[in-house]
Amino acid sequence: MIETIARQTGAAFKLNKGDKLKVMDPQGEQVSDMVLFNAEDKREKLSSGKTLDFEETILITKGHHLWSNRSHKMMHILEDTNGRNDFLLAPCSPETFQIMYQNPEYHPSCFENLYTNLAKYGVEPDDVPTAFNIFMNVQFAADGRLTVAPPTSKAGDYLLLEAKMDLIVGLTACSAEQSNNYSFKPIQYEVIQAQK
Ligand SMILES: [Zn+2]
Repeated sequence: MIETIARQTGAAFKLNKGDKLKVMDPQGEQVSDMVLFNAEDKREKLSSGKTLDFEETILITKGHHLWSNRSHKMMHILEDTNGRNDFLLAPCSPETFQIMYQNPEYHPSCFENLYTNLAKYGVEPDDVPTAFNIFMNVQFAADGRLTVAPPTSKAGDYLLLEAKMDLIVGLTACSAEQSNNYSFKPIQYEVIQAQK
């Protein structure tokens, strides 16, 4: 069954080892932040540093694994029809909009949407790691300078990922203007259960 994450919101759910997760951009140019926890021990979680190290690239796509802070494989990326994701930047948070955009008003954020949805699994705000930012287009120059460009994803682009352990998943439709070419759209996902 295809689930829809409304614009500027999030979801959290469990995934069993062997299950597949399809994350879809139904309209195009929409980022989805994803975090992972070991369902048996939440202290084991997604690690950007371990993933970039073991995969020897900062561009994580089809064929790569997402690794944990304990150096275990959490997911395998089976398909990626767009091919551009980010694993450098932390989820957008209330402070992001205050510090980077000088916006003192309340602003929805991936960080809030992750920890509020993950609370039912006992995950606390400080537990949320750097997210795997699906469809996020971060460009980097030779001198190290980073810029956020519009996603290259088109309507219908998707990633298909296979769980390598029992997982708790947090997933968002990102709330940051610049990351989503200044319009907020939904994200869809589907859990494809392993044959029992
Ligand atoms: Zn975000």
